[in-house]
Amino acid sequence: MENKEVYRQLSETLAKRGGPYPGMDMPEFYPMAEALFTPAEAAISNLMPEGIFTLEKLLPKTDMTKDELVELLKGMAPKGLCFTIEVGGTRYYNGPPFVPGIMEWQFMHGEVTDEAKKIAKLVHTYMDAVDVVIGSRDKAFPDGRVIPINQTVEPGKKVRTYNQIMSYIDNNDLISVATCYCRHGAKLLDENDVCDKPMEVCMQFGPGAKYVEESGVGRVISKEEAKKIILETEKAGLIHCTMNTQDISFVCNCCKCHCMGIEMALRNKKPSKHFTSGYKPVPDSDLCVNCGTCVDICPSEAISFGNEDLLEIKLDRCFGCGLCVGNCEEKAISMTEMEGYNEPPANMEELKKMIEATEKEVQKTGQV
Ligand code: SF4
Ligand code: SF4
Repeated sequence: MENKEVYRQLSETLAKRGGPYPGMDMPEFYPMAEALFTPAEAAISNLMPEGIFTLEKLLPKTDMTKDELVELLKGMAPKGLCFTIEVGGTRYYNGPPFVPGIMEWQFMHGEVTDEAKKIAKLVHTYMDAVDVVIGSRDKAFPDGRVIPINQTVEPGKKVRTYNQIMSYIDNNDLISVATCYCRHGAKLLDENDVCDKPMEVCMQFGPGAKYVEESGVGRVISKEEAKKIILETEKAGLIHCTMNTQDISFVCNCCKCHCMGIEMALRNKKPSKHFTSGYKPVPDSDLCVNCGTCVDICPSEAISFGNEDLLEIKLDRCFGCGLCVGNCEEKAISMTEMEGYNEPPANMEELKKMIEATEKEVQKTGQV
């Protein structure tokens, strides 16, 4: 098969894998795909079964020997083109979507090389072109979730484990950390485009951490170091973002100036439909001294001074991140549960079902 056709099929493969930036047969896709995948890697990606698979499932679809296939997949893993881990003596594989998956992997190593700069340019050119085609990204059900910053929900309120950032650290024996792909990707595009936020803060748990360690893109850390990093990110005004599931494999610590997910959410009418913790801040005008710290630190410009200098919160914009609460020295804001909030689905499969069901409902009623 001609290489051109292999890459065209790759655009279809990455379209089927879904995500906010699926594969698209457009001029901007090809230079990026050719820089990321060799023709053999693209061809094997097109043959990968959906979801998690073993070698035995893929091998019969190819004309390769077992050793050749193992070698090919082994070479793709450190490049983020094929996720793989060994569990109980069996090696499992998965062909990731472009986002989340392949794109992030290109920048999590934190290296500054000519090749990395070239990839950053190609990736961003493609993503910009996809944004133009997709246009508005209004969401019926959030696929992202914010975990409130540590201890901002007062004791006595219902605080589920999935809303406690430190519980993920306590409950996982394998934790890794890598470079923030958003801030690093921006720096590769323009060396002057930097913010002063900590860089090594992308955290993975369990199997994800194992893959990060095996592929050398990040490093395994102790629970103590993980907790220290989390507290540093909160001090720096970063928010904890992850998938809208109770069982999570990663936490990103995001800034409003570079995070692609937050930037995408803020381009929409209702950013809280992209990310929410299920909590909302409630100001206490008796305690507030109008210092403005909460207004300045809010990543979504959800909080402002209104009539008579009273604080107003736009809930459609609020992520429920708790930065305003944690940084108010007067303790003049508290977090409370958002009415009508749906519990996060248990896992990715449940999340997919929930998104599909909500979209159908929106199509029927016309109400977002
Ligand atoms: S940080 Fe606290 S005291 Fe300052 S304006 Fe906000 S609520 Fe008021
Ligand atoms: S008002 Fe802003 S800082 Fe406060 S919880 Fe909402 S998004 Fe976070």
